[in-house]
Amino acid sequence: KRRNPNESELHQAVKEVFDSLVPVLAKKPHYIKQGILERIAEPERMISFRVPWVDDQGQVQVNRGFRVQYNSAIGPYKGGLRFHPSVNASIIKFLGFEQIFKNSLTGQPIGGGKGGSDFDPKEKSDIEIMRFTQSFMSELSKYIGADTDIPAGDIGVGAREIGYMFGQYKKIRGGHEAGVLTGKSINSGGSLARKEATGYGTVYFVEEMLKGQGSSFTSSKVTVSGSGNVSIYAMEKAIELGAKVVACSDSSGYVYDKNGIDLSTVKRLKEVENKRISAYVDEHPSAHYFDDCSGIWSVPCDIALPCATQNELDELAAKILIANGVKAIGEGANMPTTEEAVDLFLKNKVLFAPGKAANAGGVAVSALEMAQNSARLAWTFEEVENKLKEIMKDIYSESIKAAEEYGAPGNLVVGANIAGFVKVADSMIMQGII
Ligand code: NDP
Repeated sequence: KRRNPNESELHQAVKEVFDSLVPVLAKKPHYIKQGILERIAEPERMISFRVPWVDDQGQVQVNRGFRVQYNSAIGPYKGGLRFHPSVNASIIKFLGFEQIFKNSLTGQPIGGGKGGSDFDPKEKSDIEIMRFTQSFMSELSKYIGADTDIPAGDIGVGAREIGYMFGQYKKIRGGHEAGVLTGKSINSGGSLARKEATGYGTVYFVEEMLKGQGSSFTSSKVTVSGSGNVSIYAMEKAIELGAKVVACSDSSGYVYDKNGIDLSTVKRLKEVENKRISAYVDEHPSAHYFDDCSGIWSVPCDIALPCATQNELDELAAKILIANGVKAIGEGANMPTTEEAVDLFLKNKVLFAPGKAANAGGVAVSALEMAQNSARLAWTFEEVENKLKEIMKDIYSESIKAAEEYGAPGNLVVGANIAGFVKVADSMIMQGII
């Protein structure tokens, strides 16, 4: 806190991990002597830079860009870029810190990083997006590379933004270094199933967790916050597994449809027409729109999947979900549940899948994209999806095993933190005091 004053999201993320590590430090006290906690909490590098660009009125605008290269013990830095007005150093660092353990959990050789800008892509013209992303990449290109640091998308950064950034990177650096960014369009070297990976992976993970209790998505009532990349594909897989998704949202409000959300409408509104979720009710008379996005947690459901943003599910929302009989929570977003809400779920025996493990499918398929780029190959959708499914199953069993081994059976928060941490800590020790 002394080194990072006023960075509450970073403090929250570090505290959650460190609290889980108490039994590890008791068993492996050499981590303390090696200063592993102090070292792992301190980014290897934090880059902050000016991003000037010209809007459609000819006015010069200035945003701030960030890249945190948090930890490279097990591989090159890997993590998404977020474009959202709320972005600041604390948010980028909390996301980068989480990414270290998430990437380790995937079993792939990728270190932790994250980046972004306080640029707001909403209501910007296509050419404004291009000018901004080109300016952003002109600076970022100095620090990244296929074997150094490989950014991807996150909130506000999809295939279009990645495409413009890839074009600018090539222009500056020359060649066709496909492996420098992931989340590319298929024709530029992207992977099939990358777009679906985070949402699908979250549902696969939760399905494994439910299986352990003799339950499943089939015939369950599900609510999914957000209606962006993660939410849409979490809804798609949940519906495919036999669930009824009754509510979804955006940052303005939520939609409840007792007949089950019609996903093709949501996809068209959000992916093609760029409209608000409120437009859903114009086409579906069975649905209602409510002007308060956090109200989604008052909709009775068996499974809730927070897939929008950090700290969107607080203690009050947790109480309401529990009173309404929720059985499982699966975090598709990063840190969407506050610490108090997580404690309540665990105390009340609600199954809880932490984001670090449950949403690791996105970065896992990004690493598969890197593998395909290196091999100059393109796998089929089925090949990638099958690999994703196996990775999610492995993350679940590794997390359950670690929770058991360190005296917190069934607690996936503790299990995921420990399983992700130990591998990174051991690699750091092997590489000396650096
Ligand atoms: P998108 O930008 O595609 O979608 C975000 C969605 O959340 C939008 O519908 C947005 O609405 C909505 N939203 C934002 N704030 C709120 C809120 N307070 N309440 C309800 N809805 C809200 O982002 P992604 O789907 O890519 O990312 C979502 C989360 O998943 C983030 O936490 C991200 O870090 C995490 N994640 C993403 C991965 C990926 O592969 N994309 C990988 C792993 C994690 P609006 O349009 O109004 O802003």
